Amino acid sequence: MNKSLSGIGMTSQRTRARLIERLREQGIRDETVLAAMFDVPRHLFVDEALASRAYDDVSLPINFNQTISQPYIVARMLEVLRGGGPLDRVLEIGTGCGYQAAVLAQVAREVFTLERIQPLYERARKQLRELKIRNVAVRYADGSLGLPEAGLFDGIIMAAAAPALSAVLREQLAVGGRMVVPVGAQEQWLYLVERDAAGFRETRLEPVKFVPLLIGKA
Ligand code: SAH
Repeated sequence: MNKSLSGIGMTSQRTRARLIERLREQGIRDETVLAAMFDVPRHLFVDEALASRAYDDVSLPINFNQTISQPYIVARMLEVLRGGGPLDRVLEIGTGCGYQAAVLAQVAREVFTLERIQPLYERARKQLRELKIRNVAVRYADGSLGLPEAGLFDGIIMAAAAPALSAVLREQLAVGGRMVVPVGAQEQWLYLVERDAAGFRETRLEPVKFVPLLIGKA
């Protein structure tokens, strides 16, 4: 666990404990993910005007037509990404406000996260720095093609929906690696792509609703 988070947001601990109970009721079983979600003060990642709703299980606006993902979907995606085991290097596409990156930082050794909207990138970087989360590298970049120059990842997670499963991205998975991505336009599904020595295996998990993955920087 990231020690720097202890002591932050004591007042919201009870609210977060309720959130964790709800996530359990919704079927999240991974104790490592639940502990990470308990530790990260979600209210610090949304506008002050919305802070009172930060622990409701809803997505919330974070400007520029983007949203901070609903806690359930963050928990679910991280649970699938972990697959019950520890994570070493993880790539996140779509930093947004940086909340999911902060949770990832608690369950992975090293996180790279990419955001195409400059003000969001800057704000997320600042927020993560203020929380003294040091194992997340935030980059202002179009992440639709991943980050091939950074080497292979044990986990790749996308916070925006791609039109189709990307072959370019899955090539950036290490053997034994897992990728969790929303795919589709009107109708979207969450997919798990696993890489083993023999190749790739795709599993369709559940219907989801994400903002679209867009191309280029903004
Ligand atoms: N994980 C975020 C949720 C962000 S919403 C959180 O916890 O808040 C999805 C984000 O993906 C948006 O900020 C959007 O700008 C970003 N995005 C969309 N297409 C992208 C791309 N090609 N590269 C990088 N980021 C992208």
